[in-house]
Amino acid sequence: MINMKFKISAPSKASFKVFKSKSGARKTVLQNAVNSVKTRKALYLSNRSCLHTLRRTTYSGVQSAALEHCYDSSTNALVEIKVSLIKNIKTQNEYLLSKCPYCLVREPSTWDHYLPKAKYPEYSVFSPNLIRVCDVCNRKKSDGLVQNTKEAIHTYFDKLPNTELLVCDVTLDNANIPIMNFNVPNPTNNTQITLVQNHFNAFDLAETYIDYAKDYLSVLLQEFANKFPTGITAQIYKQELIFIHNQIPMNRGYNYWQAALLKGLARNLNLVSVINNLQCVHSNNWKRV
Ligand SMILES: [Zn+2]
Repeated sequence: MINMKFKISAPSKASFKVFKSKSGARKTVLQNAVNSVKTRKALYLSNRSCLHTLRRTTYSGVQSAALEHCYDSSTNALVEIKVSLIKNIKTQNEYLLSKCPYCLVREPSTWDHYLPKAKYPEYSVFSPNLIRVCDVCNRKKSDGLVQNTKEAIHTYFDKLPNTELLVCDVTLDNANIPIMNFNVPNPTNNTQITLVQNHFNAFDLAETYIDYAKDYLSVLLQEFANKFPTGITAQIYKQELIFIHNQIPMNRGYNYWQAALLKGLARNLNLVSVINNLQCVHSNNWKRV
């Protein structure tokens, strides 16, 4: 869950280059649709904050197929659009070259059509509608999540508040095994936080973060046990966690799961006895994920 600005000049012109690169009957169909697509692109941009309310328009089967084909078939013009989008990511937040902006845990490997091309074929190669994400998030979103209720954050157009909304509560079960619960509290039903909550739930981020956090936590606790073989105090435990938290680069945004986890750990001092009961293991293989 992170956002960035869309900074690409003349995004409309770029997609019309794809139209021009086609040949035969398909090219004619696309050229006849240019004015309609221009109007639709302007509508997209003027409705950027409420795209979930943007009504579909009617295209014939032939037009829809030609518009979708602009994305489904690779052309140099389409590659140019993707390259400029990747350049936009690199310029603003290089971290997002290696992490999907929807989940911040997996590597982006595909492009999400924020408004799905099956329903909005006119935006199939419209760069503001293309977001580089991981395969899992793309499948979860599929053709949904932006109809009537916005359940997916638009990376370019939804500005997230600069506050930490993601919380991780850490408790211990009867066997002293840490239990983590990631959540996004919203006691006042704030609209911006509701969007973050919707996104968090739609992409199953609670379960995803727990999966990643389990490995991270087991390594972290063992590192503490190794570093403090005679035992760690509650004060040092908190200081160590704050130190690690403060090392997290700002380009992870305000809702990075590791940051929420470290804060949650710092709130539960019962973890100190868990660490002090671990065997000190000397190994060069311990490395935090
Ligand atoms: Zn993802």
